[in-house]
Amino acid sequence: MNILVINCGSSSLKFQLIDSGTENVTAKGLCERIGIEGSRIVYNKEGQAKITTETPMPTHKEAIALVLSSLTDAQNGVITSLKEIDAVGHRVVHGGEKFKSSTIINEEVLKAIEECNDLAPLHNPANLIGINACQELMPGTPMVAVFDTAFHQTMPEKAFIYGIPYKYYEKYKVRRYGFHGTSHSYVSHRAAEILGKPIEDLKIIVCHLGNGASVCAIEGGKSIDTSMGLTPLEGLIMGTRSGDIDPAIIDFIAQKENLDLQGVMNVLNKESGVLGISTFTSDFRDLEEGMKKGDPNALRAMEVFAYHLIKYVGSYIAALNGVDVIIFTAGLGENDSYIRQVVCDGLTCAGVKLDPVKNNVRGVEAIVTTDDSTVTAMVIPTNEEVMIARDTVKLVTK
Ligand code: AMP
Repeated sequence: MNILVINCGSSSLKFQLIDSGTENVTAKGLCERIGIEGSRIVYNKEGQAKITTETPMPTHKEAIALVLSSLTDAQNGVITSLKEIDAVGHRVVHGGEKFKSSTIINEEVLKAIEECNDLAPLHNPANLIGINACQELMPGTPMVAVFDTAFHQTMPEKAFIYGIPYKYYEKYKVRRYGFHGTSHSYVSHRAAEILGKPIEDLKIIVCHLGNGASVCAIEGGKSIDTSMGLTPLEGLIMGTRSGDIDPAIIDFIAQKENLDLQGVMNVLNKESGVLGISTFTSDFRDLEEGMKKGDPNALRAMEVFAYHLIKYVGSYIAALNGVDVIIFTAGLGENDSYIRQVVCDGLTCAGVKLDPVKNNVRGVEAIVTTDDSTVTAMVIPTNEEVMIARDTVKLVTK
């Protein structure tokens, strides 16, 4: 089957056409600056060079139309007609408590996703726009929603309830939801496959370290705790997000800087994290460059980031009462041997013994610990799109 996977952001849209039999990506690409001047589509047919075309995309509907015309283009397309797309899998960020797994999209599901908009105001409305545009342009093609939050719906109450009045959970569903679920699920299953062990027997901690970053504790294939919360702001220090802070800082900064609530939230989402600490970048590649030159700002940001990460992994070893596998994934986790080394060196007390030679890898599946390490640390490149395609096939062929 040909599955089109769509990941809609507020001004961007990523897509992949996946052959579900081989799991090959026959074409993929990105629409950027949707609704902004200078919008462009980058289209990449398997085995060919990327084609970038600047063209106006006032809304996501024009973006989806361009994706579909690129896929069916006589010269560079990979299919001859839209009828060859058997189904569309949509990444949806927040499924609240309602969605514990992926689901076929119908009117009722659309309404329920809309009801979660409050919980993810930056993401869910964009996801919905993408779904609506696809439905308009491909009527009759089955669509599936795959939620970032669904994998974490197995968390026990003790892990998802906050220390605030319980009535806010009852009235407004304020609780930990967690994100990156599709990624945590993919890499943990892949680790079990690579190790040749049933996932039911494994205690796994996944460090998804990208622009957004989260840690997840997985027991027997089920998420039992994760660092992101009601929103993706909680947890690890990230590129521009603060992660955990004393909540009283919000009022303190608002008063000192004469900011309203929204102003402070903007600081915490967009001006904090390693960008805020380093004062110059949210990108770990720049931090590493800076560290090589002895830049104290880069050193400070990396040190604080790594320290928080080690503390999180340590606390999840306690939550799981042990750990068999630690996985590093996403941009930083897959590519940066330095951060893996710092984290593993901080966890020698738990039996993690890094092999510096094995750790010298980028973007490939690898075990990076020594043969006698009691905990296996691994690099596993994430593949959220293939998970979305798999769930889509499962649901539409049911
Ligand atoms: P993602 O959100 O998974 O695309 O990850 C993007 C982030 O990964 C970037 O902002 C970088 O900080 C980090 N990253 C990507 N490649 C490298 C690399 N080679 N070395 C260090 N960090 C990297």
